[in-house]
Amino acid sequence: MQIQKKNFILLSVALLNKQQKLSLVFDNKNTQFISLKIYLASMIGIAKGLTQDFVKKAPKIELHAHLNGCVRRQTLFEIAQRKQINVDFSIFDLRNIKGAFSIFQLIHQVLRDLSDIRRVSREVLEDFKDQNVAYLELRTTPKSCELGTYTKEQYLATVIDEIQKFQQLHGDKMQARLLVSIDRGRPLDDARSTLNHILKLKNNNLIAGIDFSGNPSKSTFKEYEQLLEQARKEGFKITIHVAELEGDEYLQESFDIVNFKPDRLGHFNFYNQELYNKVRQLDIPIEMCPTSNFYTVNMKSLSEHHFKEFFYQGHTINLNTDDTCVFDTDITQEHFKMIQAFNLSEDEFKQLLLRSSNMIFDQSYRPLLQQRINEYFSSSQKQ
Ligand SMILES: [Zn+2]
Repeated sequence: MQIQKKNFILLSVALLNKQQKLSLVFDNKNTQFISLKIYLASMIGIAKGLTQDFVKKAPKIELHAHLNGCVRRQTLFEIAQRKQINVDFSIFDLRNIKGAFSIFQLIHQVLRDLSDIRRVSREVLEDFKDQNVAYLELRTTPKSCELGTYTKEQYLATVIDEIQKFQQLHGDKMQARLLVSIDRGRPLDDARSTLNHILKLKNNNLIAGIDFSGNPSKSTFKEYEQLLEQARKEGFKITIHVAELEGDEYLQESFDIVNFKPDRLGHFNFYNQELYNKVRQLDIPIEMCPTSNFYTVNMKSLSEHHFKEFFYQGHTINLNTDDTCVFDTDITQEHFKMIQAFNLSEDEFKQLLLRSSNMIFDQSYRPLLQQRINEYFSSSQKQ
């Protein structure tokens, strides 16, 4: 079997059974051999099959989750019904980036009161905790309600308040931080007022950084670059959605974004060899969102995911949900699907989580996080 994507080739040969696999990864362009992995589970006993339960119980790290995209579908239905809001829920069947933006509009249409924002924030935090996420960075764009029921300052204060309450109750189980999103689909003035507002909250240690996101076809990164540079000078860490769509104009913008050297990149679906080399050379960690990427890229199978072009090179990456509501997924599934797609061993799963811990924005929590990961895997090995 041969799977080819861009300039890399992954060869996997199934030997005898599923756990005995020969995997060869090499650079097609330079015919440079990159790695040889032989999984002979039954002979050397290291690549035992990982169960979904094992993955669920592992202390995981979620760094790319949009608050509104992770609303429980049931909660949306309930609020819409109670407020008699007529919405078309059939758009949940649209599994692509356009569908995702329509769903975001729908969610914004339904969440009309601060009490809704409060409820949704609490539920999303609980859902990640129940999936044994040990460290979460949740992102959201502060926005006012079009009906005038709340301002964007009130929106942000409500989300922060819920995170604070959660920390007091469950901080020992899951540490939660906030990333404030700047939506490129909104006017630059809106982004400027968001930055001015969060500068006043700079000492709030729950705000871990800034995310630049939104519909990539709505504006250019260059329009926002100066503002993001100002945010960086003020001490904010920055993650940027990049290379979500295919096309020359997006590729050029991806170079602009990578040259900006953000602290992390989100998705990074489409690239050429030069851009790949640049990201590898600059060593910028990547937040990958397998199910979301699967639909955006229109993959036939997750084994085509660009995970293979980074993970086996030792690049710092992690796996995330993006939007649990939109893509009908959770963080356990995101890991389990990739473990299956690449036949990852227990040790590779552990390495993936340890690498994720290196890219969290609140590095003060890293030692404890790594301790929890190490303890989980050492106790599992004793069983
Ligand atoms: Zn995203």
